[in-house]
Amino acid sequence: MARAISPCIFCQIAGSSNSTPLLHSDDKVVAFKDINPSAFRHYLVVPVEHIPTVNDLQRRNEDYTLVSHMINVGETLLRRDAPQPNQYRFGFHQPPFNSVDHLHLHCFALPFIPRWKQLKYVFGTTWWVY
Ligand SMILES: [Zn+2]
Ligand SMILES: [Zn+2]
Repeated sequence: MARAISPCIFCQIAGSSNSTPLLHSDDKVVAFKDINPSAFRHYLVVPVEHIPTVNDLQRRNEDYTLVSHMINVGETLLRRDAPQPNQYRFGFHQPPFNSVDHLHLHCFALPFIPRWKQLKYVFGTTWWVY
């Protein structure tokens, strides 16, 4: 994507020259804490590759695998810190409500911090169910 003027913050975090402590990194995704947590636990999982929004994903195996991997990583991290899987929530932004134009999965362990606006998010992942 040629939006070269302002470097993408998440690409920077996923790149080698970042100061954000990573909770997880592999060749596909990195994970870190949301700087502005909205719940008891709030992590972000982002693909290393720059994918702008969920609308840029396609219903093909590669993307399906990537999203499953993002959710797996998020779940593993939550499980480390929050014992109750029924309190976990995962969501992507629904365009145009993106905070950052680089696909990222929000991973929460409830409870939400009360002022939180849940409606900004798409909960569940039905968009990629065949
Ligand atoms: Zn990016
Ligand atoms: Zn976000």
